[in-house]
Amino acid sequence: MTALQPARGTHDLIGEEQRRFQRVVDTARRVAATYGFDEWQTPIFEDTNVFSRTLGDTSDVVTKEMYTFQDRGGDSVTLRPEATAGVCRALVSNGLTQSLPQKVFVAGPMFRYERPQKGRYRQFHQIDIELIGPAEPLADAEVIACGWDILKALKVDTDTVLELNTLGDKQSRDAYRDALVAYFTEHQAALSQDSLNRLDRNPMRILDSKDEADRRIVADAPTIAPYLTDAAKAFYDKLKDHLVRFRVPFVENPRIVRGLDYYGHTAFEFVTTKLGAQGTVMAGGRYDGLVAEMGGPLTPAVGLAAGIERLSMLMDAPPPAPAPVAVIPIGDAAEPVAIEVMQSLRANGIRAEMSYRGNIKRRMERANRTGARAAVILGDDDIANGVAQVKDLASGTQEAVPFAHIPSRLK
Ligand code: ATP
Ligand code: MG
Repeated sequence: MTALQPARGTHDLIGEEQRRFQRVVDTARRVAATYGFDEWQTPIFEDTNVFSRTLGDTSDVVTKEMYTFQDRGGDSVTLRPEATAGVCRALVSNGLTQSLPQKVFVAGPMFRYERPQKGRYRQFHQIDIELIGPAEPLADAEVIACGWDILKALKVDTDTVLELNTLGDKQSRDAYRDALVAYFTEHQAALSQDSLNRLDRNPMRILDSKDEADRRIVADAPTIAPYLTDAAKAFYDKLKDHLVRFRVPFVENPRIVRGLDYYGHTAFEFVTTKLGAQGTVMAGGRYDGLVAEMGGPLTPAVGLAAGIERLSMLMDAPPPAPAPVAVIPIGDAAEPVAIEVMQSLRANGIRAEMSYRGNIKRRMERANRTGARAAVILGDDDIANGVAQVKDLASGTQEAVPFAHIPSRLK
C-alpha cells in the first residue's frame, strides 16, 4: 500500500519545529498578559455567515480562500480563516457588549485555500489580540506596542519594520474612493481581471494587489492624505504621537490597506525583508463596524494577528528539550524499585526515563544516545542498602546516594 500523505498545504510539527512554534505562542501569551489581554478560545468552525457577511465580498479570503462546506445536517459551515470575526461573534453571543473594554488573546489554527509555498499554508496558525471598546487612538497604539513587544521578546524586531497607514473615517474613504476610481478607470486597460472586478465594488483593495502589472499602476495612484477629514487626520496624528511615547519605531506607507474589508482608520503591518514575498509577519488595524455587523451594538475595536509559522522561521533556534536522567535497573528484580525512583524524580519536575528492556550495557548506550545528563543505576546490593549509584554522564563521576536524596541531588 502506498503511504498516505499529509493534505496539501498542511504540515506536521515535530521536534525543533514544534519547540519554535510553542516558544512563539508562549511568548506572545506572556507579553499579551502583561498588557491585560485574557485568552479566549472560540470554535475552529463557525456558521459561514460569520465570515461571509463581515470580511467583505471582495476580499481574497471570502472570494477564493474559504474552506466552506455543508455539514450532514445541511448547514453551511466554514473553517475559520482568521480570528477577529469569531471573537466579535463570541462577544455578542456571550452578552459582553456592555462589559467593555474586552481585551482578548487568541492562538490557534486558521484555514485558507491558498497556493502553498514557503510561509503560506492552508492550515496555518496565528496569535491574535483584540482590544474591543475604546475608540481612542491610545488603544491602537497599545495594540501595536504589544505586537512590537512580542517581536522584541522573540528577538525578531531587528529585521522587522512597522509600516503604518490610515484608512480614514467613512467620509475620507468615500472621497478617496472617488479619486481612486477616477485614476484606475484611466488605467483600466492595464489592470488585472481581479482588480477590474474590484474597481466598482472596492477600489482600495486594488492597492493590495500582488499582480506585477497592477503594482506598477498602484505605484502612482493617489494617496489618501489629501482626502482625510480633520477628524481622521487628528486621529492619525494622535496615534503617531502615542507610538513615539510607546517607543515603537515606524515608517508611514500609504499603500497599506488590509486584506479584509472591515477596517477603518489605523492599518499597519510589521514587515521583514527575510521571508521574500511572505514578508508580512504581523498585521492589523481598527475595525469599528464589525461588532455591529455581527448583530451587536456599534462597538469600536482594534486588533492584530501574526502568523506563527512566519515568526517561527525568523527566530533563533530555541533551546533543546532538557536532557533526561536515565534510570537503569540491573536485572528484573531491580525494576520495581527503579520505577519508584523514576516516579520520585518526575514528581520533582525532573525529566526521567527508563528503557523498556535490555541489559546494563544496552541501557547505558541508550542513555548516552538520548543525551542523558545522568544515570541512576540500581543493582541488587545497592538496593539492599537503600542507595543507588548516581553517575554524572558529562564528568563520569559516580557516587552512592540514598533513595530519598536522589531528586534533590539531580535538581
Ligand atoms: P498575505 O498578504 O501574506 O496573504 P494577509 O493579508 O492575507 O497576508 P492577514 O489576513 O492579515 O494576512 O493575516 C495576518 C498574518 O497571518 C499574516 O501577516 C501572516 O503572517 C499570516 N498568514 C496569513 N495567511 C497565511 C497563510 N496562508 N499561511 C501562513 N501564514 C499566513
Ligand atoms: Mg492572504
